[in-house]
Amino acid sequence: MTDSADVRDAVCPVGPEQLVRPAVLEMRPYAVAPAAGLIKLDAMENPYPWPTSLRQAWLDVLASTTVHRYPDPAGTELKAELVRVFGIPESASVLLGNGSDELIQLLALAFGGRDGSILSPGPSFVMYRLIAAMSGMRYHEVPLVEQDFSLDLDAMLEAIRRERPAIVYLAWPNNPTGTLYPRDAVEAILAAAPGVVVLDEAYHAFCGESFIDALADWPNLLVMRTLSKAGLAGLRLGFLVGSPRWVEQFEKCRLPYNINTLTQATVRLALQHWPVFEAQTDAICSQRAVLEAGLRAMPGVHVWSSAANFVTFRVGPGMAGAIHAGLLDAGILIKRLDGSHPLLRDCLRVTVGSAVENHAFLSAMASNMLTTPTGKAADVR
Ligand code: PMP
Repeated sequence: MTDSADVRDAVCPVGPEQLVRPAVLEMRPYAVAPAAGLIKLDAMENPYPWPTSLRQAWLDVLASTTVHRYPDPAGTELKAELVRVFGIPESASVLLGNGSDELIQLLALAFGGRDGSILSPGPSFVMYRLIAAMSGMRYHEVPLVEQDFSLDLDAMLEAIRRERPAIVYLAWPNNPTGTLYPRDAVEAILAAAPGVVVLDEAYHAFCGESFIDALADWPNLLVMRTLSKAGLAGLRLGFLVGSPRWVEQFEKCRLPYNINTLTQATVRLALQHWPVFEAQTDAICSQRAVLEAGLRAMPGVHVWSSAANFVTFRVGPGMAGAIHAGLLDAGILIKRLDGSHPLLRDCLRVTVGSAVENHAFLSAMASNMLTTPTGKAADVR
């Protein structure tokens, strides 16, 4: 091949426009904001690195881990640790995913096709919608109550009756609103749903509530968790727990070696030292209170109480972009929600960081609010 050859010039009788599904052609790739050199408070990561003693133990584990063979396809020892640490009922089955993103994709593969649909309250985790689109499933969103981002249960039940979705996703607590819907509302949805209800407990560590103990009561309940938010985002491990009747079908759609050897070995070690991560979670919950109080004290900022490791807030009309940019200038990256969903206008989301990071964020916010020209009070909705 010559240096001047450009793959974009190659002539091909058919291109993506003819072959790729229209829903995919219309999609925009999932964008991740560059974060090098910034205080990173945009992605619900745990701000604390592993303590030195645990890092040393990790090196010892890695020294005796071999990678010339494929990983254990079933992740048997890893699952045993998950069952022990998270109190998973012995009669339930566990499905492992390369992050819970992959589990959402895997369920779409199993239920997929144009006849299948996914239903979720919204705004919620974007992957439910994206994966429905990329897998050819229909997606139906039931708007949350605008005032307080609570669940509109009547509308949910009506939509479930009408749409008869194969999958209902309930992020519990919800991303990006931080809301924890009442248990009896979740139960009403479980009773009404003709298909499965996936309770996405990604933020379980920060709210202490779970439906894992209720699995025996609801044959259509699947509980999904991730270890990303508790401190293992880089390892990519999610898991789904439910009746073996469901899980054995999903297993057929899982690629055999989706959880690599290093992740299996490292997560097992982390689970053997889980109190370290629980202590970090406790610190994050204390810092969440600091962050919420700091934001609430700012005139014109409306804060929604959060049961997760982030805080979503609304600023004055039209100010979100300038505040987001001002924070970036101060070296702080948060998530701009404004523009992503009609109910999220003027909204921003900040992940709870370390005490130092949160202090830097609150100081930069305070000076931003003073200098942003349209600094009018946000109407509290
Ligand atoms: N569910 C919810 C509600 C989330 O917010 C996220 C991550 N933002 C995930 C699932 C995906 O987590 P992961 O793929 O890292 O396991």
